[in-house]
Amino acid sequence: MLRANLTAPFTIELQEKSIPEITDSDVLLKIHYVGICGSDIQMYHGKHKYMTFPVVFGHELSASIVKTGKNVTGFAAGDLVTVEPQIYCGECYPCRSGRFNVCERLKVQGVHADGYMAQLVVVDAKFLHKCTRDMNPQQVALVEPLAVGVGAVKRAPNYKDANVLVVGAGTIGNMTAQAAKALGAAKVMVSDINGKKLALAKECGIDVAVNVAETSLTDAIETHFGMRKADIIIDAAATRSGFKSILEVARRSSSVVITGNYKDPLEVEMPLIQRQEITLYGHMMYVREDFADAIAFIREGKIHTDGFITAVYPFRKTLEAFRYIDEFPNDVMKILVDVQNLEG
Ligand SMILES: [Zn+2]
Ligand SMILES: [Zn+2]
Repeated sequence: MLRANLTAPFTIELQEKSIPEITDSDVLLKIHYVGICGSDIQMYHGKHKYMTFPVVFGHELSASIVKTGKNVTGFAAGDLVTVEPQIYCGECYPCRSGRFNVCERLKVQGVHADGYMAQLVVVDAKFLHKCTRDMNPQQVALVEPLAVGVGAVKRAPNYKDANVLVVGAGTIGNMTAQAAKALGAAKVMVSDINGKKLALAKECGIDVAVNVAETSLTDAIETHFGMRKADIIIDAAATRSGFKSILEVARRSSSVVITGNYKDPLEVEMPLIQRQEITLYGHMMYVREDFADAIAFIREGKIHTDGFITAVYPFRKTLEAFRYIDEFPNDVMKILVDVQNLEG
């Protein structure tokens, strides 16, 4: 079987490997689709701070079970599944309080440990999530980024019936905005400067899409949210200008959730946070319930995925997929690799 190994910056080697053995608690997975994420791109560029080469990348996937170890219950050969890619210790304080997504010894498969860009992968069954067989395997590969959005929304208290602003209309911003609607927000607004991504946000049913290159965010908040303004603001853009505008439009007592990855330190006008009693929440990935919600929302048709998958590449053209993303970063929402289709 073949796997795609990131051996050095800009270098992806397709390597032939023998079929891996399973233990009694494992399953053997046949991988269908793997999504390429912003963090994969960072790794590909050699700019990811927390990984070392070589690594088999890939953490957004759909797969079918080929065989199960003899202690595995609740799963059978043929089941369509996805996998939570976090390996956690189960013993540290965050793990014991249910936040294993911030485990002190967290490892993410596809970043700190080998991931899923391979034809066959062995995984402990405790990381599996079952999807119904009528679900589309391409959509199932979107469960992971959607779970990030679900997790981001749930970090803020009182998200039901809230006015939610999501800054950034890229993959995570769009998914977060759709998750907010699915979780019962009153009204959801997304902001960006990319017209195409904003148009897609509208197609995905997000109430308001604001191009901040043309309209001021303050005016948009006043027009669409009125006096109440934004109860929750989710930062999926992680830019200096984005955060500045968040503090400008935040209402007294707004909650601000940071889910984007900041690359550089930021100077912050602290009195705006202090005097307005703004609460800042950091957010990292998801917990198991967020994954389950994401699967349910996709299965129930609450998430619009049309137009979301920009392209699907055959396995041997994985490197071309990365090059395409580098060349057209503003046009790409999600690129999938069809792992079982070698040449296309
Ligand atoms: Zn990702
Ligand atoms: Zn832990």
